[in-house]
Amino acid sequence: MKNTDIRVRFAPSPTGFMHIGNARTALYNYLFARNQKGKFILRIEDTDVERSTPEAREVIFSSLRFLGIEWDEGPYYQSERVTLYQEYAEELLKKGVAYKCYCQPQELEQRRRETQVAGKPYKYERTCYHLTPEEKQQKTGLPFAIRFLVPPGEVSFPDLIRGNITFKGEELEDFVLLRSDGTPTYNFACVIDDYSMKITQVIRGEDHIPNTPKQILIYEACKWEPPLYAHLPMIMGPDHAKLSKRHGATSVEAYREMGYLPEALVNALAMLGASFEADREIYRLGELISLFSLNNVSKKAAVFEPEKLKWFNREHIKLMTTEDLLSRLLEWGFKSDDKNYLSRVLTLVKERITVLGDVHNEFIYFFQEPKTYDDTGLITWSSGEVLENLGLLKDKLSELLDFSALSIEKTFRSLADERSVKAKELIHPLRLVLTGKTVSPGLFEMMEVLGRTRVVTRIEAFLAKIKQINS
Ligand code: GLU
Repeated sequence: MKNTDIRVRFAPSPTGFMHIGNARTALYNYLFARNQKGKFILRIEDTDVERSTPEAREVIFSSLRFLGIEWDEGPYYQSERVTLYQEYAEELLKKGVAYKCYCQPQELEQRRRETQVAGKPYKYERTCYHLTPEEKQQKTGLPFAIRFLVPPGEVSFPDLIRGNITFKGEELEDFVLLRSDGTPTYNFACVIDDYSMKITQVIRGEDHIPNTPKQILIYEACKWEPPLYAHLPMIMGPDHAKLSKRHGATSVEAYREMGYLPEALVNALAMLGASFEADREIYRLGELISLFSLNNVSKKAAVFEPEKLKWFNREHIKLMTTEDLLSRLLEWGFKSDDKNYLSRVLTLVKERITVLGDVHNEFIYFFQEPKTYDDTGLITWSSGEVLENLGLLKDKLSELLDFSALSIEKTFRSLADERSVKAKELIHPLRLVLTGKTVSPGLFEMMEVLGRTRVVTRIEAFLAKIKQINS
């Protein structure tokens, strides 16, 4: 097979958000396709009309685009291909490898319950397969499902990650291909699509392993060659329980809203179950493409650590130029009418933010006056002497010709000398006045960025407030 014939697919069901697990499946398929110079196909498995929504479909598209995962073909919609599944189901009926089943869901449910009460696992009894020609005659015109006739013997397949996997035929029941309302089941639609879309490798989560023997049996019944399968390891939360909502945010969308970069998500997702180079964790998409191989995917469950994702995000922010960071911030929804100022703020805070949202949440004082002041700071730094010094500092700063970090610092030092106080006795209160907080980036650099007007106005506002409180 030529590499260019390699075709993989991502086949999500549009029933909710794009979860971390789904995003990892999409990414591995994409990395594999690009590495092999093959094709990546997007297929929307929306035959479950009740659970599929147009919103969930849009979330899939936007999450993929956000991550930079571009599809070469599709999106194909299973809901538009129902006739095709019906035609193939008819053929399987004709071949005698499938049969009509008239059993009602309620009957089946009751039998299932009865068997379970008796402590046995339920398997369809082939009631309708054993119908006599007369009985079949009597049922003509009644609604029916089409069931696959599972042949005896073992089903075995070589998993590209886990090695050979074998299932006993007796473990499988005659599963439904087409429901009585004419819609296909997942396993059937999946095979017809993987076959007709010429999929060569099916890369999906290990929760699908029990489906694979059923799918292979359909291929065998049709005399088609099945694709190769690669089942990706489970993803657990930090407590080693299956990743779920109680572990916090688990969707791409939620991370995007918090201000995570696609680079960081892609990097973190890629590391969920695969390794690349020894002693290296930071990779960009292009590097992941050239390094990706299914041989490097582990069988062991992977652990998704939100703290680790934060670390990836910080590292990728550090790798960006301030200009790039600025345009990401605006794209993400940050409002600014002074890009020049924003850019200077970012240079200062770039190494201190974890997510884009921090620019607003942690450094709001660059964009608006502090509304409140840290209590401990206020208690320590509002004595008469401090206030007097702040007043003098304000006068000196108003007159300062060059409002640079360097000359601001000189001003501080000389006032400290004049007043016989330590420089920090001016620095700490002013930090509180300018930011409302007791920690910030270096005060002098920060003041240079804030600029004279903001600095002077804030000192004035602070002094006025304290005066009001004291009067
Ligand atoms: N629609 C299935 C899912 O979202 C696809 C499984 C597969 O890749 O075959 O889990």
